[in-house]
Amino acid sequence: MKRTFIKDLKEKLDQTVTVQGWLQTLRDQKSMQFLIIRDHTGLVQAAHWKKGNPELAELISTIGTESSLTLTGKVVANEVVKLGGLELQLESVKIENNAPMPLPFEPNSDNLPEQDFRLDWRYLDLRRERNRKIFEIQTTAEQAMREWWLANGYIEMHSPKIVGAPSEGGAELFTLPYFETTAYLAQSPQFYKQMAMAAGFEKVFEIGPVFRADPSFTSRHMTEFTGVDMEISWINSHEDVMVAMEHWLAHVYQKVHDKHADEIKDLFDVDFTVPALPFPRLTMAEAYQILKTQGYKLPPERKGDLDPGAERALGAYVKQTCGSDFVFVKDWPVAVRAFYHMRHADNPGLTMSFDLLGKGLEITTGAQREHRVEVLTAQALDKGLSLEPLKDYFDFFRYGCPPHGGLGLGLSRLLMIMLDLPNIREAVYLFRGPNRLTP
Ligand code: ATP
Repeated sequence: MKRTFIKDLKEKLDQTVTVQGWLQTLRDQKSMQFLIIRDHTGLVQAAHWKKGNPELAELISTIGTESSLTLTGKVVANEVVKLGGLELQLESVKIENNAPMPLPFEPNSDNLPEQDFRLDWRYLDLRRERNRKIFEIQTTAEQAMREWWLANGYIEMHSPKIVGAPSEGGAELFTLPYFETTAYLAQSPQFYKQMAMAAGFEKVFEIGPVFRADPSFTSRHMTEFTGVDMEISWINSHEDVMVAMEHWLAHVYQKVHDKHADEIKDLFDVDFTVPALPFPRLTMAEAYQILKTQGYKLPPERKGDLDPGAERALGAYVKQTCGSDFVFVKDWPVAVRAFYHMRHADNPGLTMSFDLLGKGLEITTGAQREHRVEVLTAQALDKGLSLEPLKDYFDFFRYGCPPHGGLGLGLSRLLMIMLDLPNIREAVYLFRGPNRLTP
């Protein structure tokens, strides 16, 4: 048996073919049965005249919506059929896996249950074309990322996810019993990317899982997410990291545009455009000034930082004034940045760091890192950290580590802004949050 994809049926007129897919709908009429069959390339109508084969008619009547089927039939032109002007005249049907009615929900109905319920039945939810497309686009984006990295001399790395010390502070840390001791799940590949700089790799990237014991219930946080990280050596400042990032991201957008722009318009109603370079840059001081003139007030506990409302306000401002969906916000105060961010030589209250906002959502944090061990140690002490757990990390900088910097980006956040998805739960294959560990 050779399978024909639904998109190729138009080339098989008057031939008998085998199609495999899911039953989207069945109209069981008095003398005819019409089945809408779906595979990942499209939809086709299959028709069966009951009197021609009563046994087959009986079988078809038992098939539940969303059953997986192998169907054989003749492809015939039929002008009245809306789906491509052709139909499959059924000769045989094999039920591979029946889906007894009622389904938890019908993925292609207009009347969908709430998201949490759909997440319980994620495999059914993912049968919607729109949802499948998110992951096709993600695949294209990741391939384009790798393409750019490889063309620019980067080495791929895979750092351990079971670690002995936190990299991003103790608050959002999952602990793990580890034989006679306690281990942690990696909050980022930060320390090991930097070790690669000390190892002389010069440019590295990693796409891998990141764990955060963040108890918040927001539309943009998960307890496990896919981090996209890069790190480069011999930089002069964080500006070099921003330049690398914007070129890399523009390449990713170009590839997604070339392959998916029409589908993105159809399925997500988004006009997908490749961003112009360079992205606008604002210092934190400038960002605050803009927020002030707009009358935006940060809650006191976010002093020196940006909250989601401030990010949205800055995103809207940059869109309006520069036409850009992206903006780098740079030179953040020491108080709200990690101890390993390098500080400005002429203004030690500020770090040489940046966030990238896309459509008003933070998608990346980056910085030049402090590579001088005595300065790094002093900065850790300054933040009140205990030095003992960081001992191995400090050792990376003892013997000739070059100046370096890099960034971390959340893959699902990128998908959110590419496709205007309101919730990160839609942009990830399986969501993990404080009260979701299944399926
Ligand atoms: P936020 O301020 O949104 O909580 P963060 O400053 O803690 O993020 P970083 O530690 O800088 O984030 O991580 C780098 C990137 O990883 C972020 O810009 C974001 O794209 C992504 N990211 C961070 N935390 C999460 C999370 N809990 N779920 C999904 N993506 C995340």
